[in-house]
Amino acid sequence: MAMAPDDNDQPNAEAEQAFLKQLRQTFDQMPREIPLYLFVGRGQDDVFVQACRQVVRAFRQLTSKITIKEYYLDHELAAKWGVESSPTLLIDPEHYNIRWMGAPMGEEGRSFLEAMILIGAGKSGMSEQSHAVVKQIDTPRQVKVFVSPTCPYCPQQVVNGLRAAIERPDLIALEIVDIQSRPDLADQYSAQSVPQAFANDVLIGQGAQQEEVFMSSLLKLEPQTIFIPESTAEMVEVDLLVVGGGPAGLTAGIYAERSGLKTAVIERDTLGGQVALTPVVENYPGFTQVGGKTLVDIMVTHALQYVNIFQGEQVLDITPGEPIEVNTTRRKFRTKTILLATGATHKNLGAAGEKQFSGRGVSYCATCDGPLFKGRKVFMVGGGNSAVTEALHLFNMGVSVTLVHRRDKLRAQDVLAQQLEYNGIPILWNTEVKEIKGDERVKKVVLYDNQTHETAEADADGVFIAIGYQPSVELARKIGIELNAEGYIKHDSAHRTNIPGIYSAGDVEGGYKQIVTATGQGAAAAMTIFEDMINPYWKRSKASHGMNNVAGTMPNTGLQHEATRN
Ligand SMILES: Cc1cc2nc3c(=O)[nH]c(=O)nc-3n(C[C@H](O)[C@H](O)[C@H](O)COP(=O)(O)OP(=O)(O)OC[C@H]3O[C@@H](n4cnc5c(N)ncnc54)[C@H](O)[C@@H]3O)c2cc1C
Repeated sequence: MAMAPDDNDQPNAEAEQAFLKQLRQTFDQMPREIPLYLFVGRGQDDVFVQACRQVVRAFRQLTSKITIKEYYLDHELAAKWGVESSPTLLIDPEHYNIRWMGAPMGEEGRSFLEAMILIGAGKSGMSEQSHAVVKQIDTPRQVKVFVSPTCPYCPQQVVNGLRAAIERPDLIALEIVDIQSRPDLADQYSAQSVPQAFANDVLIGQGAQQEEVFMSSLLKLEPQTIFIPESTAEMVEVDLLVVGGGPAGLTAGIYAERSGLKTAVIERDTLGGQVALTPVVENYPGFTQVGGKTLVDIMVTHALQYVNIFQGEQVLDITPGEPIEVNTTRRKFRTKTILLATGATHKNLGAAGEKQFSGRGVSYCATCDGPLFKGRKVFMVGGGNSAVTEALHLFNMGVSVTLVHRRDKLRAQDVLAQQLEYNGIPILWNTEVKEIKGDERVKKVVLYDNQTHETAEADADGVFIAIGYQPSVELARKIGIELNAEGYIKHDSAHRTNIPGIYSAGDVEGGYKQIVTATGQGAAAAMTIFEDMINPYWKRSKASHGMNNVAGTMPNTGLQHEATRN
């Protein structure tokens, strides 16, 4: 049965009145005035100007705390605050650098209400974790958040920007740009979907971000996808400490925690290790093709469900014993066991000028630095899978790349080599880069033909080097862990090293050096550690632990993976 319109409308009208009453009370209790300055162009009384006026007047009617002043763009105050477009709304410009370019219509009404409440309270209202991040910003940030009135996700990103600008008015300025009112700016920034956030003209967020993720993107000036809260603990006690947050370490963290071992993963640099530097991965089961960074995000998000990750912290010293004492750059750890999953790093070429121009034209990461060389000429040194993959990646970015290989045949897989040929990427065979020359930046390379023994100079804007990897075994070496002839950690088939309680997994062990093998080794090592810890064998072997204790000689515990299965 249809209801009479009056019956239906009455509760809504009552609810609206109650809401407005509540809003008035909220504004009345606010400690601060909220001065608004609207700037419009002479004779420019368009739909955006009218909407802007309407919205601010509606708020003004709620409270005397809001004051509105309207000026033309040629007024001296517009010059003082650098206002050039109509309509622009400044919020408390004597204290904050917050401006609306366009009108806070539609969904943006919610952002505007939030802005009024935060400014009236004079507090950003951000979380403690966000506060800890924003505190670290020490240079100015000019933030632009592109929005539209019909975007329901935009207010979340606008509020992130507002909180940042209110928390650090000394360094953070915010512009909220309505793409309908300012299509020119949207075009300039290629902001074709909203919300999009830029800081100092760098894209820091596409879509609405969790507050802490937004703040850490703002701090690092690059889009972050995951936020890991910083720990202030001086001392952390665990059952297992995993050194290295690559695929091996992250997988070990998941398996160990799921077995009930209190575990921490420490990563000195970028989580994901080498995968974070990989443009595209095509051989990890479950993904036909996945960006390295995307795969890392998936792995890290999964690992964070279980294990504490300490990022940006390097393990400096390990003192074996019971417990094992560990010093990092941030704190101390006490642990019963350690897993070294420290992986590998790129090899240096050893050419003159390589060190001098590192970061100034010499690069070891095409994914990271390639876009800087678009339309420029670079040499890629190497002949294996990494060099060829990275050369193709550079080519696809629009870089003019030539491969330099010291042999007459590539070591890379045929399928990759064929793509080089297909794309017409030149290869200099039997050629070595002997020297890299330049002034502020790389300008030339000296090329040596090892067949004709001739030397020639070639112009270059950059030199990318991908000639292989060396294991990160500094820590292992320091504490007397045995290495094999190639310099990798010597281990038994269950990933035990020669030192009781210390294990290894992943590329640092040598072998196939793939993501899938590293994750497998990380899982296997964590299961060994669990079994060793609950098995009296572990205690006994601490007295006589050595490389003779291979898995084959271990007593069968009957526990084979039982505790970790599900
Ligand atoms: C360009 C490139 C492309 C690749 N492409 C593929 C591919 O397509 N498919 C594939 O399967 N594999 C690929 N690989 C190889 C693959 O990435 C590695 O095999 C894999 O990442 C090894 O994992 P890991 O955890 O053993 O070591 P890593 O990924 O090297 O991670 C080790 C981590 O330990 C950290 N660490 C080291 N010392 C310390 C310390 N003292 N304190 C704290 N942290 C420390 C490092 O910072 C690093 O993050 C590629 C590698 C590169 C470089």
